[in-house]
Amino acid sequence: MKRAELCKVADIQLLAHGLYKLKIEASDVAVSARPGQFVHIRIPGDKSRLLRRPISIYDAYHEEGNIEIVFQVVGEGTRILSAVKPGDLLDVLGPLGNGFTIPKDTRHLFIVGGGCGVAPIKFAASKFNHTRSTCFVGFKNRDAVYGLQEFKKSCDRLLVATEDGSIGYKGMVTEVLEDELKQNSPDLMLACGPVPMLKVIQQMAEQFDVPCQLLLEERMGCGIGACMTCVCAVRAGEDYAYKRVCKDGPVFWSREVILGETANEC
Ligand SMILES: Cc1cc2nc3c(=O)[nH]c(=O)nc-3n(C[C@H](O)[C@H](O)[C@H](O)COP(=O)(O)OP(=O)(O)OC[C@H]3O[C@@H](n4cnc5c(N)ncnc54)[C@H](O)[C@@H]3O)c2cc1C
Repeated sequence: MKRAELCKVADIQLLAHGLYKLKIEASDVAVSARPGQFVHIRIPGDKSRLLRRPISIYDAYHEEGNIEIVFQVVGEGTRILSAVKPGDLLDVLGPLGNGFTIPKDTRHLFIVGGGCGVAPIKFAASKFNHTRSTCFVGFKNRDAVYGLQEFKKSCDRLLVATEDGSIGYKGMVTEVLEDELKQNSPDLMLACGPVPMLKVIQQMAEQFDVPCQLLLEERMGCGIGACMTCVCAVRAGEDYAYKRVCKDGPVFWSREVILGETANEC
């Protein structure tokens, strides 16, 4: 059973409008964290906010005993989190969930992140660097772009898209992905982003016959599989069943998961 730990904030940085990178001294999490896993953070100093907030691990440095998270301020919890200072203590539970799994014989990975889904895939890009990887990242516009240098260092090839064309390809990141899939056949795709984007990627994975894992950012409660707040539907033969995003996921095979309207539309 995972225990929550009080961890010291080492650094906080504003990366883009409303988007923060937080470095946390969390040696136990750093040692065992895998790409796709998340930490569940209690919002400091606010007793009315009993629920923790799930944030993916952006990177983990086990030698230094630090982890990084990148989060967008969307509501009160993340607003309070954005105001922490180095030296403050955070109550952190994790690493939680099942992350991405890479079969041993994988030779070429496509890693795709759009909008809110860019941060959760960075750890996969830096950790799975023993295999050839092409990263696709999509943002709304220039003001929302971050992390390109880190992605460049982590993968073999980086393709950037912005909806207004202010940086990189003009359009959706899924359009760049489709062009590449017409020319290359990766062994595996990993993706995170808003549900409409994940639905497009799910269809492409089927069309181009590429195995694909999707990271879902469903709203959740306990984070450890007890409260059933975050269930998603999965195929079960001719029928369907429910799985918990926090405990069985947040990463699912695209072939099995049924993406619904209830999931995160960030
Ligand atoms: C496994 C997982 C990993 C995540 N990783 C990241 C990450 O790396 N970076 C990041 O910025 N965010 C991530 N999120 C989303 C993050 O947890 C929410 O944005 C956060 O909990 C919002 O808290 P809040 O108190 O600020 O907002 P609230 O006041 O709770 O909500 C404000 C608004 O945000 C919406 N919202 C809240 N939580 C979610 C959610 N989980 N999904 C979609 N919409 C939501 C609400 O519907 C509401 O419109 C992740 C979520 C999950 C489940």
